[in-house]
This record gives sequence, structure tokens and C-alpha cells, in this order.
Amino acid sequence: MKPGIDIAKFTKDHGVRFIRKDKWWVTRWIAKLLFFVPGFMTDFWTTIGRTVAYPESGPDCDDGDALWVAAGGANIAAATLRLGAPKAGERAQRIVELAEYLEGHRSVVEHEFHHVIDFERWGVLFAVSYLLLPVPFVFAWFRWRWEREAFLYQIVHYGRHIDDWTDADGNKRLGVVSVLWSSYLCWPRAWMRAWFRKATDAEVSEWGR
Ligand SMILES: [Zn+2]
Repeated sequence: MKPGIDIAKFTKDHGVRFIRKDKWWVTRWIAKLLFFVPGFMTDFWTTIGRTVAYPESGPDCDDGDALWVAAGGANIAAATLRLGAPKAGERAQRIVELAEYLEGHRSVVEHEFHHVIDFERWGVLFAVSYLLLPVPFVFAWFRWRWEREAFLYQIVHYGRHIDDWTDADGNKRLGVVSVLWSSYLCWPRAWMRAWFRKATDAEVSEWGR
């Protein structure tokens, strides 16, 4: 994947569906299981198969609207004929809002697209290893394996921080290592940090060539 990919085209080519977390029974159910993870519904994005669930602060968009985003104007014109102008107009408005929201969260959208590709390559193996394999390794090595590529991409292309940092307003912000540790219980912090440092050095030197 290249940074700045056409989100609508990827959505269409891969049959991706976007849905707001509070509007999907699956994510509502997971939130109950993960009651100890703060921000699951409000901050985190979750991809299952080809469905990307975005935080509940995102725009209100019905199931299936993603395809409208993908097809853009032509589909909206066809819908106007089918649904009549007022209804199609409302729907087009929501689609525009979703498209703008996705564009504004491009870094994380592309992170989630990595998981769509993982799912396409590995199918059920991806899902099972992601969810169930803290056992018997104590740490969830496979989750670390899947997440590190997606986070590395954000570090290299969107300047996401490896370590905790302080923003211009003096707020403490979590780096990737802290996010992985607190929310995904992946792998020992020092090992994760070492892996990202090494991987980013490698990326940089490869670019420098
Ligand atoms: Zn991820």
C-alpha cells in the first residue's frame, strides 16, 4: 500500500464496508467483553474481515453507504432516479460526510486497510491468531505480528510517534509502544520499542538509497 491511496477505490475494489461502532451489534457486543479497555467505542477503530468500524464520534452513516462513497457521483445520480431527490439528497449528504471524515483520518484508515489485506491473505488464520493466541505464549505474539506492520506504516508515512510525547499544547500523548501495550497486551514494551527503532532505521536507509 502507498500513502495517499484512493480510499474510495480501495473500498470498492476490496468490498470494504464502513460502519459506526455504536450502530453495529458486533462492536457493541465486543465493547461489553472489553469493558476494561477505555476508549474502545470512542477512540479506537476496529476492523473485522472487510468491515471497518469507526468511533461513535464519527458521522452517522447507514450500513452499505461505503459503496456509495466508492462509486461517488454516478451512484448518487442513479440513486436520485431510484429513490427520488429528497431521499437521495439526504443519503448523498451523509456519504459526503463519511468521505470527508475518512479523508480526515487517513492515517488510521490506511492502518485498518492493512488488516483488510491481512484478512484477505490469511482469512480465518488471521482472525483466530489475532484473537486467541495470547495462549500459550503469555503475550499475544500474533497480535503484535499483525499490528506492528500497520503501526510501522503510520510511523514511517504519517509521523506517528514510537514513544510517548508532548504536543504543542503541552498534552501528554501516547506513542505506538504505549498504545500497543495498554490496549493490545502484545509484547514486552522494550522489545516492541527495539523492533520499531530497527524497522524505522531500515525504512529510512532504504529510502535514502
Ligand atoms: Zn490495528
